Amino acid sequence: MTVFPLQNFLKTKAVGVRFVHDIINHEKMTSIIQVFLAKSHGHFIDGAWVDGVGAETIKVINPATGGVVSSIHSGGSAEVDLAVAAARRAFDSGIWSKMAPVERARIMFSLADLIERHAGQISQLEALDIGVSRDMMQTIGVQLAADQLRYYAGWVTKINGETITNSRSRSEKREFLTYTEKEPVGVVGQITPWNFPFAMAVQKIAPALAAGCTIVLKPAEDAPLSTMYLADLVAQTDLPAGVFNLVNGYGRKAGAAISVHGDVDKISFTGSTDVGKEIIHAATGNLKRITLELGGKSPVILLKDANLVEAIPAAARAIFFLSGQNCMAGSRLLVHGDIYDQVLSGLKIISEAMTVGADMETTYDIGPLISEQQLTRVMAYIDIGVSEGARLVTGGKRVSGREGFFVEPTIFADCNPDMRIVKEEIFGPVLTVQKFENDDLDEIAALANDNIFGLSASIWTADLARGHKLARRIKSGQVGINVHAAIDPATPFGGYKQSGWGREFGREGLEPYLETKAITAYL
Ligand code: NAD
Repeated sequence: MTVFPLQNFLKTKAVGVRFVHDIINHEKMTSIIQVFLAKSHGHFIDGAWVDGVGAETIKVINPATGGVVSSIHSGGSAEVDLAVAAARRAFDSGIWSKMAPVERARIMFSLADLIERHAGQISQLEALDIGVSRDMMQTIGVQLAADQLRYYAGWVTKINGETITNSRSRSEKREFLTYTEKEPVGVVGQITPWNFPFAMAVQKIAPALAAGCTIVLKPAEDAPLSTMYLADLVAQTDLPAGVFNLVNGYGRKAGAAISVHGDVDKISFTGSTDVGKEIIHAATGNLKRITLELGGKSPVILLKDANLVEAIPAAARAIFFLSGQNCMAGSRLLVHGDIYDQVLSGLKIISEAMTVGADMETTYDIGPLISEQQLTRVMAYIDIGVSEGARLVTGGKRVSGREGFFVEPTIFADCNPDMRIVKEEIFGPVLTVQKFENDDLDEIAALANDNIFGLSASIWTADLARGHKLARRIKSGQVGINVHAAIDPATPFGGYKQSGWGREFGREGLEPYLETKAITAYL
């Protein structure tokens, strides 16, 4: 059996990601960030930071150490009411929606420039808050965010209706002129998760701002720092007060208050499928428009002719990137029987060579989980995997000698579709591997599609024609051929089945923030 060469792991092409974490240490932390962390953080409403009602706060924890790095006020319906009122005033005044499109675009471009200039500070905050490396953060978190803003700033001057050829002219003596206009939906509530919170926040506000909407955004309570820094950057632009508002708080209080609010016209949510379902119920009162980006259990499919030098490290990256806390994580590896042992052996070598952990002082390959709660959840799933009879190839334990929330890269082989570890989203560094012997594309697709989620998938093969044929059969919003999770601002992103409603990114990501009005004149 060929032993997989480890050095290829770090060399092979990543999806815009270098998988080696950077060194961050406290000495490197800039004074700007130290001052920022020491502040008492309230809510950004109507262009200014305000304290919330009551004294309840939420501790912001560094997951690499378990230590408290900052604290935020825990907002609820009182703060949401204020923020929605500010967003409503700003929307109804037309100060943003009726601003000349070139001017709106200019302001969005200026925010993108500011984000790039503050990449270092944003990356430090994100590193502290979620354990991501500055290196990865700058590549994905910051650059993607700036790209998203610029992409949607480009759309501002191109949001047009169309003229319609109206057939009623045929039966009536007079003529008709029918055309459509695109109008912003109004006040939008945006709720984001803790994995890559900065990029999540920017990818939500960019299309909303382009459409002319005003915003009330609630970041995840586990990782709010970089989004608050974004508010500070917004305050340095010419964006009118009240267009962007931020409320901090727990999901069940602040998030729920936004979802149910009668003056919020649309919700855009990224997070778990269970919470997505709650939001649907909460939003029925005024029939808000809803976009949902939810969970995933994405298959990575290795056909027998896959180039294993590329595919094996890519499969490792697909699951272990951000310690598996990635909605597109390739957590179900489906491997043809002819290459099964070779793939498992390569993955085992890669996983065991990863330097797990590190806080702000060392270089590392895989970081911490976001919280103690997430750690408990992932460890419980590992126990479930063992009790279900899956074969533990490597990992399965907490990383010893670390105070933070670290789990070893874990691989379960010989899994089957009935196992809970195969069916459910774990959101941790746990890979399940299934073997298939069939070459029939319909049967391979059936195995890949045997899941309630449908967010992302990838196919690895030397035969591109077969790759495209299989891609057509996969029920998922994104399918990569010889690449996993290739996101791009212009490429629609979203889920089939219980992975969500609607799309973000691209033109499709703009549409949910627009209403279409049809106007007909009887000439
Ligand atoms: P979560 O659903 O627990 O929380 C997400 C956000 O919703 C947080 O801001 C939280 O405060 C808020 N929230 C919680 N309960 C709420 C309620 N009742 N009403 C309104 N808001 C509420 O998710 P998480 O643990 O932060 O993130 C992990 C999940 O997010 C995973 O399932 C992952 O797959 C998913 N995710 C999906 C995408 C995607 O694009 N499809 C991207 C990233 C993460």
